[in-house]
Amino acid sequence: MTEEPSAQPLLQIALRVEQDIFVIRQRGREVAAVVGLEHQDQVRIATALSEVARDLLRTAGGADVSFHVDAGADGRFHLRADLAPVSPLPDDRYQPQSGAVSRLVDTLSVSTVEGVTVVRMSRRVPANAPMPTPERFAEFRTELGRTAPGSALDELTVQNGQLISALDEVRSQRDELAVLNEELAETNRGVLALYNQLTEELEETNRGVVALYAELDEKSAQLRAASESKSRFLANVSHELRAPVTAIIGLGRLLTDSASDPLTDEQGRQVDLIRSSAADLLNLVNELLDLAKAESGRIEPDVTEVDLRPLFGQLRGTLRALATRPEVELVVEELTGPALLRTDEVLLGQVLRNLLHNGLKFTERGEVRLRASQHGDRWQFEVSDTGPGIAPELHDRIFEEFYQIPGATRVGGTGLGLPYARRLVTLLGGSLELTSAAGEGSTFTVSLPTGGA
Ligand code: ADP
Repeated sequence: MTEEPSAQPLLQIALRVEQDIFVIRQRGREVAAVVGLEHQDQVRIATALSEVARDLLRTAGGADVSFHVDAGADGRFHLRADLAPVSPLPDDRYQPQSGAVSRLVDTLSVSTVEGVTVVRMSRRVPANAPMPTPERFAEFRTELGRTAPGSALDELTVQNGQLISALDEVRSQRDELAVLNEELAETNRGVLALYNQLTEELEETNRGVVALYAELDEKSAQLRAASESKSRFLANVSHELRAPVTAIIGLGRLLTDSASDPLTDEQGRQVDLIRSSAADLLNLVNELLDLAKAESGRIEPDVTEVDLRPLFGQLRGTLRALATRPEVELVVEELTGPALLRTDEVLLGQVLRNLLHNGLKFTERGEVRLRASQHGDRWQFEVSDTGPGIAPELHDRIFEEFYQIPGATRVGGTGLGLPYARRLVTLLGGSLELTSAAGEGSTFTVSLPTGGA
């Protein structure tokens, strides 16, 4: 809500001839000074007034100008100047000149009230200006009455003064700008130097990383070559050993054959020893050959749809012969319902046989059990035993080639079974893990994808 401290205008001036523009400008500045506008604002509103006045004189032949003070909705006072043209404006949509004028004041508008068009502008009075009470208004009027309007020359002189001070201000602003520009250029130079330094450091780091990668590539190529030559060596040696060992076994069998000349008891025992040692050797050679083949990637899994029930039946049959201890029970659990998965049946059979065989080898009493179950898109095979168990710190080591846990559990074998089993399971797209603790038995878990590798 706005409240008019005084309905009476502070001052009224008629604009009819060119000369009046100077008077309006001068009086406008005086009114602004009297109500408490700061110097800059006085010049601003005076300039806006003279511009609009010149415009109205040209387009409408003159106007009646009046000055008022309003209390605004923001609780502040505003100096308002109304310019009512003396004849209708040429165009209803008359706009007070350019935006440059409207920037000089807070509001500049053209409004038509009850058929009368008024160009209205206002500028806010600073908060620290004295309150414009009715008494103050009376004083304003007397003050304004005292100062008679000067001549156009006077006003021109004042305008000149104002122009000079405005020019001064522009000059000082330009100097400030030059200082700022210099500072900016300095900052830019700093940023550029920092950027160059960072770029250099980055390039240096990059060169280091590239060199490191080259070294790594070289090392891994060397490792690959070493591993390949190890596999090749194992394969060749095993292959070359197999023929003579097979020959020894064959010859041993011939010596003890009933068709051969009878041997003395001692000779018979020694030939048996030769045969069993040769059989052990053949076993080792065969395992080495298998492992070398698996490592060199020469085993191609033959993936087909496998029904686990006959495979389990087979395992039950072949391993029963190895379960020689009466205190140890071999349990291959029955599968309820169809148990199908896509995998290489021979390789899976080898892995499970190997794990079950280990269980039977190392378990003195209790049981060795194979259980299979499906979990989502994977099959899990658990081979558990009630044997001596394996301490956690050895869980990785027993999957190393030739590693056998020293001590009581060492009962023959080569130390190649588990690494081979893990290789095969990996080839089939699965994993082989161990859960065990010393004295608590062991559980080896094979997990395979149902859909094949
Ligand atoms: P091998 O059985 O021919 O010695 P493996 O690679 O199959 O070779 O096993 C490595 C070692 O891991 C075995 O010598 C044995 O010390 C330990 N081990 C394997 N299976 C079991 C098990 N079920 N219980 C206890 N120890 C085991």
